[in-house]
Amino acid sequence: MPFRDIVGHRTLVALLSRSVARGTLPPSLILAGPAGIGKSLAAVSVAQAVNCLEPLRDVAASDGAVLPLDACGRCAACSRIARGVHPDVLLVVPGDNGSIKVDVVRDVVDRSHYRPFEGVRRVVVIDDADALVSQAQNALLKTLEEPPSGSMFILVTSRPDALLSTVTSRCPRLRFAPLAPDDIARALIARGVHETNARATASIVDGSLARALEASEDDATGARERALEFVASIARSTDARHRLEGTKELLAKSVRGATDREMLAATLRVMSSLFRDLALLGTNAEGTTLANVDLGPALERLSAWSGARALDAFKAVDRALAALERNAGVKIVADWLALNI
Ligand SMILES: [Zn+2]
Repeated sequence: MPFRDIVGHRTLVALLSRSVARGTLPPSLILAGPAGIGKSLAAVSVAQAVNCLEPLRDVAASDGAVLPLDACGRCAACSRIARGVHPDVLLVVPGDNGSIKVDVVRDVVDRSHYRPFEGVRRVVVIDDADALVSQAQNALLKTLEEPPSGSMFILVTSRPDALLSTVTSRCPRLRFAPLAPDDIARALIARGVHETNARATASIVDGSLARALEASEDDATGARERALEFVASIARSTDARHRLEGTKELLAKSVRGATDREMLAATLRVMSSLFRDLALLGTNAEGTTLANVDLGPALERLSAWSGARALDAFKAVDRALAALERNAGVKIVADWLALNI
């Protein structure tokens, strides 16, 4: 990910870009700060910026600031680094037991003494560096103090205090702060999350984009479960009373941080994609064109809706969503839908 696509951290990103442009980047660095805010991504951005085959100059970041240098994000080097297969960018992460052992460190230290194979500079990124066992940290000391020319080390950690003082004293430290809720909300919206939900989620994740993405995924899963349950309950009966029971059950559910109106709207948006899929299934379209392709068998249980009926239901959901946006009563909309699909 190029610098310009990093969410938040404007000052630090500008500093890193400037250092790469001027060739003043320290050969060993600690990127510290809470988990899930983009430190490892920033380390990868540095690796791309120094090894990009067609780096860009004076690039506008999303906030309008100008970055003196940035990776193109498209050349062979950038794409191999993004995929984790560039021979000169080594990523070290904790093993199965949660720690980083001394032999792993000795191996990357050995490799850092060779000249870069293809790139300009070999970049060793040690993620969760606090997982380095003491012996491994000691094995790094000499290299951190005087990295071989052509190599640099970036230690990423949310617990810098767990590193030996001999390590921290050898590496300049960049402190990454939690992200602003506004930055998180905008990142979620850019990923297709509805604005109201994005703002609600951004307000409860302590500045962690990783947690926000997880939470919005949970919300999406929840909305899908509610939509399937509601449609299945309606499929069971043509009797109006039974159908209205279904809406009562649906409206009894609540979603953390969302109003009933938002909960229903999120459910309806999923329902809309379900009916679209059911209409497509009726035309024997390829399974891969379905939005809910993983729901294959569940969708087949809703075979009462196919062809024209699925399309009508799709349109009814659309009308219900429009009514919700015009501030129609939540219960009225849900009841109307239950009787009209
Ligand atoms: Zn590039």
